[in-house]
Amino acid sequence: MTFITKNIRVLICLFLSICFFFNTLYAQENDIVLIGNPIQGHLIIGNAINASSVFLNNEPLLLSEEGVFVFGFDRDDTGKFTVKVIFSDGVTKEKELYVSNRAYDIQRINQLEEKYVSPPPELMERINRERDTILEARKSIDTTQTPYYLSGFLRPVEGGRISGVFGGQRILNGEPKSPHNGIDIALPTGTPVYAMTDGIVCLRADNFHYNGNFILLDHGQGLNSVYVHLNKILVEDGQKVFKGQLIGEVGSTGRSTGPHLHWGVQWYKKRIDPQALLDMNF
Ligand SMILES: [Zn+2]
Repeated sequence: MTFITKNIRVLICLFLSICFFFNTLYAQENDIVLIGNPIQGHLIIGNAINASSVFLNNEPLLLSEEGVFVFGFDRDDTGKFTVKVIFSDGVTKEKELYVSNRAYDIQRINQLEEKYVSPPPELMERINRERDTILEARKSIDTTQTPYYLSGFLRPVEGGRISGVFGGQRILNGEPKSPHNGIDIALPTGTPVYAMTDGIVCLRADNFHYNGNFILLDHGQGLNSVYVHLNKILVEDGQKVFKGQLIGEVGSTGRSTGPHLHWGVQWYKKRIDPQALLDMNF
């Protein structure tokens, strides 16, 4: 009798364990996991196993076969963002995120000579041509579905002083200039520059007016990075690069007042704080 009771107990335990196991598994399969913080200029990496489509505020996001996706909050994004996932079994789930505002460094400089405020007209043709080249190159970023960035993020240079933070803005003679779209790290000319994560060289640009020699990398699903004012570029258009691969050297080409790396990150056109990537663990 005792033997039978014991066996029934074992069977009940086994049955409950199986139920628990499948409940957990079900929850995992229809769950949305988000890594990162809803803060202006920050990135969110998501995973939803068996997702068939993912939307951010009803706009579809690129999705890998493993259910991985990414999105970011612009410097000036604010308010509520809704992530909606439709799973392959038809279940729909949503997660709401509320973006926290940041305080940026704003400098007002008045009574500045006009030549320091706007570029001279004879330069505008070149500046516009270079802007078009960048816009054309950026088009390929829109369709790269592979999440190359899953190799993780690293700082593209070793050491150096941060001489410009993300989001800072100067207002010259009352005219707001573009906010600083990246971080500046002051280092001697020739210091090695490494790719922050895996990607494809989207554009290697030589001697542009503002950026000098610079590299634009496509990390997949809209995520991209730039390495600006380089002394030397060591990669070619279309080349696959790996996290930590040597891609160039620090310099002071283009509109630069001394050798430094301008490191910029965007998710599509949204401006991301590169510093925020370094705190992401996944
Ligand atoms: Zn900069």
